[in-house]
Amino acid sequence: MNKMKAAQVSKAGGGWELVERSIPEPGAGQVLIKVEACGICHSDMLVKEGHVPGIQYPRVPGHEVAGSVDAVGRQKSSSKQSFEPFHERHSAFSLNHFGGESIL
Ligand SMILES: [Zn+2]
Repeated sequence: MNKMKAAQVSKAGGGWELVERSIPEPGAGQVLIKVEACGICHSDMLVKEGHVPGIQYPRVPGHEVAGSVDAVGRQKSSSKQSFEPFHERHSAFSLNHFGGESIL
């Protein structure tokens, strides 16, 4: 299986760790993005520091990515657009979040 590198946080308040993960397959209504660059914003730091309730760790913060579509999952029947960040180095996003104000 193909691998990717990801910068993850293992626990709330933990440090950044460079890890290797399997590249995910995009699910229904998702695309796989080959990430070329990723910004870290204040909301990512809140996740890293454990200030967002309900977050599960290990976590790969970083939803402000730039890259290219590497694979497309099958279509969903829903027409509502949205995004769901998934992974860092390669990221899968639900197309259903596209119309929202924020992608986090
Ligand atoms: Zn942000």
